[in-house]
Amino acid sequence: MRFAIFGDIHANLHALEAVLSDARTQLCTHYVCLGDIVGYNANPRECLALVRALDCPTVKGNHDEQASMLSAHDTFNALAEEAIQWTREQLTDDEKGWLRELRLQRQVRDFTIVHATLDTPHKWAYVFNQLDAASSFSYQHTTLCFIGHTHSPKAFVRDGNVRSFDLDILPLEAGKKYLINVGSVGQPRDGDPRAAYAIYDTLSNEIELRRLDYDIPGAQAAIRAAGLPEKLAERLALGR
Ligand code: ZN
Repeated sequence: MRFAIFGDIHANLHALEAVLSDARTQLCTHYVCLGDIVGYNANPRECLALVRALDCPTVKGNHDEQASMLSAHDTFNALAEEAIQWTREQLTDDEKGWLRELRLQRQVRDFTIVHATLDTPHKWAYVFNQLDAASSFSYQHTTLCFIGHTHSPKAFVRDGNVRSFDLDILPLEAGKKYLINVGSVGQPRDGDPRAAYAIYDTLSNEIELRRLDYDIPGAQAAIRAAGLPEKLAERLALGR
């Protein structure tokens, strides 16, 4: 099996189409979505339709949660809040209901998926460093877990100590545990504006991070046409 594992799409249809097209070219056989399908960018309904059509295991992100609530509950920063209010107005009741029903974490085959962390999935904490990863590892009962939320791809491995390194091609070794952040499809924040997702090949027992050019001007034009904040368009070109 070849899993295409992707998340933090954030309503960026141009980026999502590039990822799904690459996954087909790469002969992926299964899809897994790590949440935050909506928020920030201009095509929440189209992205939601594409993910739902894949009929794949999907977990809930904090933006999926906020967009599917009837009114604002949490305090997002001003930029995220403006976009989430706009998103809430776009989505139908059926779409919000689907997002609301998503689970926070799931097991898929022999690995776990969660948007934020395994120690407190509902609190939307971030795994930025080894200490954060160690907390999540103590709740990880599978060898492998995939996360998103920070929008920065990163691999954490536990073999006595917890170490972190940049994700490129990672052969999995017996006796170790892995926590893999696959980065963001629709709003990368690691300084590389290309869309990110990962392929997990269960036969070769390898994980590969994929980075893809996509139509950034197209995504920016959609943001401006929707009347969303200009900053949301600008950051796509910066990868921040
Ligand atoms: Zn996100």
